[in-house]
Amino acid sequence: MLLERERAAVAEYGRRLVPARLTVGTGGNLSLRDPATGYIAVSPSGMRYEDISCADVAVLAPDGTRLDGARKPTSETALHLAFYAARPDRHAVVHTHSPAVTALACLRRELPAMSYLVALSGRDSVPCAPYADFGSQALADAAVRAADGCDAVLLASHGIVCLGADLDAAFQLAEQMEFCADVYLRCLAAGAEPARLTPEEMAQARARFGTYGQPKGEK
Ligand SMILES: [Zn+2]
Repeated sequence: MLLERERAAVAEYGRRLVPARLTVGTGGNLSLRDPATGYIAVSPSGMRYEDISCADVAVLAPDGTRLDGARKPTSETALHLAFYAARPDRHAVVHTHSPAVTALACLRRELPAMSYLVALSGRDSVPCAPYADFGSQALADAAVRAADGCDAVLLASHGIVCLGADLDAAFQLAEQMEFCADVYLRCLAAGAEPARLTPEEMAQARARFGTYGQPKGEK
């Protein structure tokens, strides 16, 4: 089976989306690129995550040509392909409709530097892309343009896209951005704008994240 490992990872991380409260029903989608071939394993359109097996995960060429898999790929395929084309250093895309980031996207506000965790996005703040129809090339183009190298971007009145070196990184970024957006909305609900970290403090956080966690290859 073409890209069996990547397809298994897409199915596995897809099953985690709903329990992690990152999406509801069949909303959202995810993909993983094989750096060796450039081929992309992408979740199928309109299937419940618990029902998705390896064979349901489509394999696409970078131009979107379906190479394997009987199921139609996600309706947001253009969004995934656009980010892979723009970011050769990122090999996973997780798009979710989690409630707090979606609420922020409905307000059409960026996620500002209100927590050091926002620096996990690689930038001081997470931008919000203008609204475009779901599944459209216009949405894909607007999202890549607004992200401008950030590993996360809000989609106005829709949700969020998170990028990672692998699916675990992209999934964890989606969880952290949801947490930050939830805290930010609580601050706004309390009637105040939270304090902002300075660019120097955010740069320091990013530098710390670079050395945070377990060394590679060790448990
Ligand atoms: Zn969506």
